[in-house]
Amino acid sequence: MLNIILFGPPGAGKGTQSEKLIKNYNLTHLSTGDLFRKHISERTELGLSAKKYMDEGNLVPDEVVIGMVAEKVKNTPDTAGFIFDGFPRTVAQAEALDKILSENGTPITMMLALQVDEEELLDRLLKRGKVSGRPDDQNPEKIKNRFTVYDRETTPVAAHYKQQGKLFNIKGVGDIDTIFSRLTEAIDAKV
Ligand code: ADP
Repeated sequence: MLNIILFGPPGAGKGTQSEKLIKNYNLTHLSTGDLFRKHISERTELGLSAKKYMDEGNLVPDEVVIGMVAEKVKNTPDTAGFIFDGFPRTVAQAEALDKILSENGTPITMMLALQVDEEELLDRLLKRGKVSGRPDDQNPEKIKNRFTVYDRETTPVAAHYKQQGKLFNIKGVGDIDTIFSRLTEAIDAKV
């Protein structure tokens, strides 16, 4: 199995590149942000509890996220692999993911980390907010809070996979197809 973590700050292009990668490698897209938004639109209890964190740009508590991911992995037995997008976002989530996958007999293959500077990220997110209607993409203060949370909670996740020799940094600026080629080159060199 090919299990990839697509890593990077909000607005790095994880969703866009995930869509292309799943088609190319026949993988399952596991985006925790998308799963939460689906719960919110279906007004489930999990969605209601996640919404208040998301709207402020804060992280949903680890146990809620981890439970949701474990269930999705368990319910997807016949897949060539996963693209994890927006997860793990804390070291506790990374440790939980390693455990879930080792029980499944299929460890993380690699982490691809998209590198984009903050000015470009803010610009992309505000543009996305105008078309998507996502409340967390419309307010510069809330976006700044997501960057702060990212630096504090999520950046250490890269070191966790670097220690395992699985971290690959990819330049995330340029046109979509150029970035996609950089990603596939790194994947094809590894597998
Ligand atoms: P982005 O990467 O642009 O911030 P996402 O769609 O990945 O957007 O996530 C949107 C929001 O959903 C996050 O700001 C956070 O509140 C919540 N969320 C998504 N994934 C996680 C996670 N792994 N842990 C905690 N909260 C999460």
